[in-house]
Amino acid sequence: MNASPTFEELRALDAAHVMQTYARLPVAFVRGDGTQLWDTEGRRYLDFLSGLAVTSLGHAHPAVADAIAEQARTLLHVSNLYYNDAQPRLAERLDTLLGGNGNVFFCNSGAEANECAIKLARRYGQANGGRERYHVISAYASFHGRTLATLAATGQPQKQETFQPLPSGFRQVAYADLDALSAALDERACAVLLESVQGEGGVNPAPVEYLRAVRRLCDEREALLIIDEVQTGLGRTGRWFGFEHSGVQPDIVTMAKALGNGVPIGACWARRDVASAFAPGDHATTFGGQPFAARAALAVLDVMDAEAVPERAAKAGERLTSALGALPGVQEVRGLGLLLAAELAPGIDAKGVATRCLEQGLIVNAVTPSALRFAPPLLVSDDEIGEAIAILARVLNELSEVAS
Ligand SMILES: *Cc1c(COP(=O)(O)O)cnc(C)c1O
Repeated sequence: MNASPTFEELRALDAAHVMQTYARLPVAFVRGDGTQLWDTEGRRYLDFLSGLAVTSLGHAHPAVADAIAEQARTLLHVSNLYYNDAQPRLAERLDTLLGGNGNVFFCNSGAEANECAIKLARRYGQANGGRERYHVISAYASFHGRTLATLAATGQPQKQETFQPLPSGFRQVAYADLDALSAALDERACAVLLESVQGEGGVNPAPVEYLRAVRRLCDEREALLIIDEVQTGLGRTGRWFGFEHSGVQPDIVTMAKALGNGVPIGACWARRDVASAFAPGDHATTFGGQPFAARAALAVLDVMDAEAVPERAAKAGERLTSALGALPGVQEVRGLGLLLAAELAPGIDAKGVATRCLEQGLIVNAVTPSALRFAPPLLVSDDEIGEAIAILARVLNELSEVAS
């Protein structure tokens, strides 16, 4: 076998052959173990992003790796024209986590999970409220995906502009503003689509009272409540799902990122009477719920159960929150569980800090120009939190010395 390519060789290949849709940082990872990653030059990093809230059990988790390897040798794929022995078991597990009175559709990503939710809400709305009931109201600063429909639902006009015309029937209102939502929620609305914590928008948790009021409003106006748990779901916020912090019961819940711990899988859960608005032939995907991905997700849920992962995330989140809050240069820490943002003191550029942290072996990202996002594996150890905080403290220190 040829020697492993160097970083410069990989960068040249990427520049020549990969569509240039990402502003990548100058590092290529080749191996992972738990919270740790190694690059092409053998340098070690602490991964405090987990992909983007994907590898919640850490890299190369042995139980997940074993399940994947065994399934690969047994059966990767059969068509959804037939049953397989993993998909219905995974559906049962997810439904149990969500109250036990719903059905699940499997797909391959967060955007696809939201596509399913949007199509289902339209189908249900039109069946119960007539042809005009197909509008979906979402929030500014939201993120729901990059397909045309989920981009239309994503409340970031700068991401939408280049791709006009987008599908119609989408409208955004200010997040956490009940009056704005109430004004927009007319009889043409089939659904309200919200994240329980806006992840890409800057790690903004929905106020508990807001989500409760949204639930009541949706009931009054006969609109479905869709909660996008693609980033927040499966233990990340210290509960199985972010909406549990407010005690509301959504009609539809989407998830993806952490479900396969890196194996692509998405899921859309809906209350049974809502789910039954879909008839055979209404929605489908080639890869969704195939044995390989479903088996990986079953292994993920087994580990999450056995290790009481939501509780661990809550505990580790408290530790990380207080450690971050004690750093000079950190003005505020927000978020839930292990989905956190540190708002930096005025004048500190979050991107510069993230780049400097990367050079020092800590992976975090600038979720806004002034805030860093932290989403470490949910099994992160106290020592790893200590190590990450030490690196960040050093970087913030250096920056303040340069500035003074
Ligand atoms: C990442 C994300 C998506 C999109 O998921 P993809 O797998 O990238 O399509 C949708 N919603 C939220 C809240 C996300 O964080």
